[in-house]
Amino acid sequence: MTIKVYWEDAYARKFQGAVIDVSAESVILDRTAFYPAGGGQPGDTGIIAAGGSAFKVTDTRKAGEDVSHLIGEFTGKIGDTVEGEIDWGRRYQHMRYHTAIHLIDAVVNRKPEYAGIITGSQIYEDRARVDFALESLSMELANDFIRQSNLIIGEKHPIRSYFISAEEAAGIDNLARTAPGRDLLKTMDKVRIVEIEGIDRQADGGTHVSNLAEIGKITLSKIENKGRNNKRMVITLDNGGE
Ligand SMILES: [Zn+2]
Repeated sequence: MTIKVYWEDAYARKFQGAVIDVSAESVILDRTAFYPAGGGQPGDTGIIAAGGSAFKVTDTRKAGEDVSHLIGEFTGKIGDTVEGEIDWGRRYQHMRYHTAIHLIDAVVNRKPEYAGIITGSQIYEDRARVDFALESLSMELANDFIRQSNLIIGEKHPIRSYFISAEEAAGIDNLARTAPGRDLLKTMDKVRIVEIEGIDRQADGGTHVSNLAEIGKITLSKIENKGRNNKRMVITLDNGGE
């Protein structure tokens, strides 16, 4: 099983590891800081260096309990020590957007009439989208969600992650906000929690910034009608953060 350096330290850009499996187009290491696509967050890109050569990682995916780095023409072999470096600028944007989505989700779910209406989200380097099971989503309501989120960013709450047992997780309401998330939760023997202190707790395997202040300011870019009971909000972040 690949050790997930990105869980221990989301800010780790470089790491050392050893090759435990190689195929024509992918490499699996015993430990990695490369985040594999999941939970609406894209897989990392970057470089893996082995035997004096540098190889470009074009995407990262889950492979069971392992993490698979998509890579072309890798000449290393099992047992080789490698050095990895993720494309930090891209990943940090993903962390900021991912955390912003958590905050918007917390704001929306605070109001009983809107609890559970977020059906999914997707993060990109320069924007993110949030989908709502709503027949109508007005600019007024969407802007209100964003305004409240920006107010909370100003309070600079820290964010931390930790593991709890399945028994403990079962006793906490609303740890997973979507149906697939709730199903996944039932299969786990330990659950990773991401907590915005004082604001929200969720079961989550992604990477996040360590303080809300790093998000900067959220701007509502547009609202899209994706169907009768499906409305989409697109957000951007200013160049705050680091
Ligand atoms: Zn998350």
